[in-house]
Amino acid sequence: MIMELSIDYSDIVKVYRMEQTYVMVKPDGVQRGLIGEIISRIERRGLKIISLRMNVIEEATAKEHYSEHETKPFFSSLVKFIISGPSVSMVVAGKDVIKIMRTISGATNPVDATPGTIRGDFSLDIGRNVIHASDSSDAAAREIAIHFKDTEIWKYSKVDEVCIYE
Ligand code: UDP
Ligand code: MG
Repeated sequence: MIMELSIDYSDIVKVYRMEQTYVMVKPDGVQRGLIGEIISRIERRGLKIISLRMNVIEEATAKEHYSEHETKPFFSSLVKFIISGPSVSMVVAGKDVIKIMRTISGATNPVDATPGTIRGDFSLDIGRNVIHASDSSDAAAREIAIHFKDTEIWKYSKVDEVCIYE
């Protein structure tokens, strides 16, 4: 017997109006072989990766990315570390994705990060906390524009969206 699922596929259209955020597996995450683990956590939550790249970020780009921390004592070491090796940049889309990616990532300082979060499971030092995720919608828009061209972002629908979203 063939069972038909009674799902209205026109609901997929809603997904186009969902939020986007910028996520980076920092150079320490890449060195420690955590790219797959982090991507896996993002995917299994139901979030959608709509752009993905590995590169060594240019110094000027790193400075722009972290410009809010320009005057902080850790700024130069942070920039130096971010450009020290390849990192993986992503644009992730989904309902409430900005807040959810911050929650999945965990507190900035690993000592405060709850087990079960990426930082709480994989890091110990604040300057080696393996992941970046935008902290607000303004930051997300700004950071996506710093790291990606519009033409590199893929606004596709995924077949499981009818099961993830009501
Ligand atoms: N950072 C650091 N020392 C500090 C505070 C921050 O090395 O005292 C680094 C840390 O890796 C953090 C990044 O700077 O992830 C950006 O800081 P922010 O407060 O924006 O934290 P995040 O948004 O990454 O949680
Ligand atoms: Mg931040």
